[in-house]
Amino acid sequence: MIERCVRREYPIGSGKALQFIYGSKQAKTKGGLTATTATTNVYRSEQFKHTMEDIRSQCCSPDEVIFGPDCRQSLYCHLLCGLICSDEVQIVSSTFAHSLVHAFRTFEQVWEELCRDIREGVLSSRVTVPAMRAAVSKLLSPNPGLADSIHSKCSRLSDWCGVIPELWPNAKYVYGIMTGSMEPYLNKLRHYAGGLPLMSADYGSSEGWIGANVNPSLPPEQATFAVLPNIGYYEFIPLERPEARPVGLTQVEVGKQYEVVVTNFSGLYRYRLGDIVRIAGFRNSTPELQFVCRSGLTLSINIDKNTEKDLQLAVEAAGRLLAEERLEVVDFTSHVDASTEIGHYVVFWELCSEAAEGVLRGCCNRMDLSFVDAGYVGSRKAGAIGALELRVVRRGTFQQISDHYIRLGGAMSQFKTPRYVAASNAEVWQILCGNVTACYFSTAYSL
Ligand code: AMP
Repeated sequence: MIERCVRREYPIGSGKALQFIYGSKQAKTKGGLTATTATTNVYRSEQFKHTMEDIRSQCCSPDEVIFGPDCRQSLYCHLLCGLICSDEVQIVSSTFAHSLVHAFRTFEQVWEELCRDIREGVLSSRVTVPAMRAAVSKLLSPNPGLADSIHSKCSRLSDWCGVIPELWPNAKYVYGIMTGSMEPYLNKLRHYAGGLPLMSADYGSSEGWIGANVNPSLPPEQATFAVLPNIGYYEFIPLERPEARPVGLTQVEVGKQYEVVVTNFSGLYRYRLGDIVRIAGFRNSTPELQFVCRSGLTLSINIDKNTEKDLQLAVEAAGRLLAEERLEVVDFTSHVDASTEIGHYVVFWELCSEAAEGVLRGCCNRMDLSFVDAGYVGSRKAGAIGALELRVVRRGTFQQISDHYIRLGGAMSQFKTPRYVAASNAEVWQILCGNVTACYFSTAYSL
């Protein structure tokens, strides 16, 4: 659906898509059904391939890369295949914005190795999966001209700003899910995309597609999704009165927030998606939703209540202090430390490089002050919630966390950084705590 709207806004010719997509494992249930993630199902379907060919957005990478067993190797090969067909690429995309940012952060590390492979026509020894090596090697032949051109373009860039249009000059837009928990990655993505438009993909889930972004030219922060009533039966639990019965599609009120419940048409399940949406309006009698946040995360110690969105806003506010120092938060998560009599919020940050202590102290205070929920502010002033703690973790910590989830069978394409980690999530908690390099406590509410 969105493809049609996007193409109306940004017509493309004959070309390819540099897609950072990764299949995950498939398993058989006892009843003989294939169980896997939604994206894997899509990428494996013949229909998907034909459609992509038909709409002239064939992926640059062969299947052996998409379905490779090691996503770091797949990512390297996606970049290489994308560079080999750089003039043909019209779209740069992934399922979620997080994978796009991760891809280009990796590119910053490996670009010289990629140039070497292209110059010599020999694939780096870091790619060890035999099928992937064979498939990508087939696409490689020595091309010193292309290698020199990539090398000189990369050397001219300032801090990788605009790397996407520089290396893929025919790309028309960057595409992926950019709303909700992906918003924290938008600044960095805009930096890489230079002037290219960012196009936010539809709102969907493994349980069923939910809404189409029918105004794709709007910036992702303003994207709304028109509910697709032919795909499932949707109900909405009013956020103001969670004890109330869910209401139907036509009974929602503009401006109000709801949690989404989906029932598939076979009636096999009725499922709370755990997403909070705001009704932005109606289009042809179907509501247009604005994604607010996932409902799972609520930082709460006593009467305070802060959602994933509140956490994101606090991190963004503090991040602006970092930007003045040309630094940035690579990723973040949170925790409530209730192990002491007076509990406090803990926010973990991974930074792109080292920051001065004074700057981080300022960021810690700014975050504490940015949680403006009345329950939090009142409790902080009354001393019923302790000082917010900022814990800085080593570079690569969040990569270890995503590796952990992928080892458990999760799909790289569908990975979303958990924005709250409980100590009971033992392995992730261990990864975080084992990588802490510095801690700061807010002094914002001390006199
Ligand atoms: P999954 O369970 O991996 O299929 O992911 C589905 C979840 O991804 C949804 O319940 C949302 O939390 C999130 N999601 C999907 N599409 C969007 C979107 N356009 N904006 C924000 N979050 C989304």
